[in-house]
Amino acid sequence: MARRRQLYEGKAKILFEGPEPGTLVQYFKDDATAFNAQKKGVITGKGVLNNRISEFIMMRLAEIGVPTHFVRRLNMREQLIREVEIIPLEVVVRNVAAGSLSTRLGIAEGTQLPRSIVEYYYKNDQLGDPLVAEEHITAFGWASVQDLDDIMALALRVNDFLSGLFLGVGIRLVDFKLEFGRLWDNEEMRIVVADEISPDSCRLWDLKTNEKLDKDRFRRDLGKVEEAYQEVARRLGILPEAGVRDLKGPETMQ
Ligand code: UDP
Repeated sequence: MARRRQLYEGKAKILFEGPEPGTLVQYFKDDATAFNAQKKGVITGKGVLNNRISEFIMMRLAEIGVPTHFVRRLNMREQLIREVEIIPLEVVVRNVAAGSLSTRLGIAEGTQLPRSIVEYYYKNDQLGDPLVAEEHITAFGWASVQDLDDIMALALRVNDFLSGLFLGVGIRLVDFKLEFGRLWDNEEMRIVVADEISPDSCRLWDLKTNEKLDKDRFRRDLGKVEEAYQEVARRLGILPEAGVRDLKGPETMQ
């Protein structure tokens, strides 16, 4: 069977034309990159796990009325999503200091923040996704003031919900990255959560031991990377039943 038309290939995912207008197929690869793609590797089974974890989280978000691009999972590595106009921002929500916040402001990793902090980064690989202020976003027309109001409200709701969800399975949600898109419904436009929510885009620490269960294991060469992603899925109760051996999954969908 002829492969569907590929529209875009990113670092960890590929987008294909969907079966109906207004839909796309999002394929999750095992490829991993860090430090603006200077570090590259493969995390075996990551695509399968991220597909499943992101499905689970997007479905839980839909249940509490947070709109997302997710329609349904198609197979081990692919999900059907709505085509949206991606807003060129990485929206990071932080509860505990880590990563670039710790480096930039000299705050020790693990310091509880006085309140949740939302940051915006301009999505531009050539520039290395620079931190930007609302002023830049509205002045350059990447998003309107109204869009940003919606984005901030959604980001904080997602944070509250996911913090509780992960706390329930013994995980601290340190920080995470969201992307948003505009979904057009006739004349109406709605901002929805897009991309993925997975251990690639979250910092997840074991509540008791502070063990990292996310992409920092790859970024910082901590080892047991596959195991960490599996552990997140296991705690969420969604580890594929066939177990680790099956995580490579089918290459393509029919
Ligand atoms: N993040 C991401 N994609 C990026 C940059 C960051 O998913 O291109 C996530 C990252 O996994 C972490 C959060 O956003 O959960 C905050 O990342 P930070 O700004 O600390 O950057 P990093 O230390 O990852 O370079």
